[in-house]
Amino acid sequence: MSDQAWKTKPPYQKPDQSFNKVLQGACHCGQVKYWLSKDSPLASKYCHCNDCKVIHGAPFQWAAIFHKSNMAFENGIENLRFYNSGSKSLEHELPCKVSCSQCGTLIMDEGRNMALLFPTLLLFQNETQKKKFEVQCHIFYPQRVVDLPDGKPKWTGLDGKSELVDEI
Ligand SMILES: [Zn+2]
Ligand SMILES: [Zn+2]
Repeated sequence: MSDQAWKTKPPYQKPDQSFNKVLQGACHCGQVKYWLSKDSPLASKYCHCNDCKVIHGAPFQWAAIFHKSNMAFENGIENLRFYNSGSKSLEHELPCKVSCSQCGTLIMDEGRNMALLFPTLLLFQNETQKKKFEVQCHIFYPQRVVDLPDGKPKWTGLDGKSELVDEI
């Protein structure tokens, strides 16, 4: 793929007539704005892994999974910054972290087919909308810095591909 080929593929396209604008997300400075055409993710999780904690500067990461085709950028594509945590490269090399180059807000983890976006950027209009993003599980829980006894399944690694552990 050439350097700029990502610009022609979802989710880096403006919403067209057929795109149903259901939810909007924006970075802190407002340069980057995107829309979702679905009101609920395929899955929602808290990740306690060390990479997420360092890169996000937070006790854990909250990610919601969508097909890339359910996401479209209204503006700010020129203001995006990429980071591949495996190679530590700033190229658009999947999977990579996507953030706003101006304010640094992390927008999503972009995989090959999926966007694992960070719902803290979404402009929820009511509790019903927010409720649809409730997490189903915690992953990499043994790497946690805080206990979260919420009754949700806690995995040692990826969900379904590791062991379940006690919450405390
Ligand atoms: Zn920004
Ligand atoms: Zn993680």
